[in-house]
Amino acid sequence: MGNFDGILKKDSVLEQVKQAEEVVWINPEKTSFEDSMQGCGLGQKDIDEAEQRLLRFAPLIQKYFPETQELNGLIESPLVEIPSMKQFLNEKLEGELEGRLLLKEDSHLAIAGSVKARGGIYEVLKHTEDLILEYGLLKTGESYERLGDPDIRQFFGAYTIQVGSTGNLGLSIGIISAVLGYHVIVHMSADAKQWKKELLRSYGVDVREYQGDYGEAVKRGRALSDAGAKSYFVDDENSRNLFMGYSVAGKRLQKQLEEMQINVDEDHPLFVYIPCGVGGAPGGISFGLKHVFQNHVHCFFVEPVQAPCMLLGMATGLNNEISVQDIGLSGKTQADGLAVGRPSAFVGSVMKKMLSGEMTVNDEKLYDYMRNLLDTEGIFLEPSACAAFQGPVCIVNNTKMKQYLAENALTEKMKNAVHIAWATGGSLVPEEIREEYIHL
Ligand SMILES: *Cc1c(COP(=O)(O)O)cnc(C)c1O
Repeated sequence: MGNFDGILKKDSVLEQVKQAEEVVWINPEKTSFEDSMQGCGLGQKDIDEAEQRLLRFAPLIQKYFPETQELNGLIESPLVEIPSMKQFLNEKLEGELEGRLLLKEDSHLAIAGSVKARGGIYEVLKHTEDLILEYGLLKTGESYERLGDPDIRQFFGAYTIQVGSTGNLGLSIGIISAVLGYHVIVHMSADAKQWKKELLRSYGVDVREYQGDYGEAVKRGRALSDAGAKSYFVDDENSRNLFMGYSVAGKRLQKQLEEMQINVDEDHPLFVYIPCGVGGAPGGISFGLKHVFQNHVHCFFVEPVQAPCMLLGMATGLNNEISVQDIGLSGKTQADGLAVGRPSAFVGSVMKKMLSGEMTVNDEKLYDYMRNLLDTEGIFLEPSACAAFQGPVCIVNNTKMKQYLAENALTEKMKNAVHIAWATGGSLVPEEIREEYIHL
């Protein structure tokens, strides 16, 4: 642990991070969108490709998951305004949140009930398309609906998909893979919720549990997958495919904002607050949003005080070469989706000059926000997702945030601002577990 003491001096916020205090960290390396994209290796073309791929699979998705019929087989979530929650926060805070407060309900995404329905499902579909092309499973022009036929399902049955997960990624990969006919193994960390394991088993997924943390589950899963010729491992820490699946959210959100007649431009800044674990979901979503709104969108990640791995990696510049345990934090949190000790180096490098900053939040506050949202708007989110509300709260009462606004000439524009709390999960949480959370 001692050998990291020097590096913690790199940024004064790190001493507080080490003490598990709530902090705001403003990214000193953030530059213009154009500049931030230099040497990134991914871009608009990759986002468009992901979007097209999801369209090709839409008929199949619609066939297997009738709940997606309304959106023609696309997996997308509502964007809703939450004025009562805004009013509640304003009454509680010393100050006023200017502008509008919206909730992006990825908590209600079809199939997996979390943000992982974006990246996870996309990655399995991408792998499936690779197999289709490699083995000529479809004739030219044939609809992907045909993939549901028994002969092709039987073909997929010879292949295994594996993933290490704290819960939600396993749910999304597990469900879609099992439904398509694959053999699936989900390697779960000890802190993964029991109900998530049970739900997966009900789909016929092979769920294996490990005593160590998430990193351990990933390591074992990868090793096992590498040993099998027909096995594919979904690599949460390094996957470009997951990332691109998340990035499609950018244009979709743009359309929803247009439908609500909400402008985002020079005078109407957009702020998004996204709960962060290993970084793929918030990174991919931010990447997509940046391509649409460029310098007018300000992306913030939120992490638990005991597991601020992305903040630590970015602020020290060490990326995945430092873990929260290295500075004496536990990595343990009730926000199971965010219980990650070491960030994705890939996401850290893409976000290096793109991310505006980060907030950290205490576990107890997650439950407060959860109850507040339920009381004011009647919307239930899981604890991980509630981290998003630390964003608007810090905008109002944190001096570093105020400084960020001033330095970016935003202070005067805040009355026109739109804040989006990105609700990353919750709709699949069973009723009895909800009751337990609410009365905690
Ligand atoms: C996975 C997850 C996140 C964070 O995504 P990462 O890709 O791990 O950063 C946030 N909220 C919920 C509910 C999640 O399941």
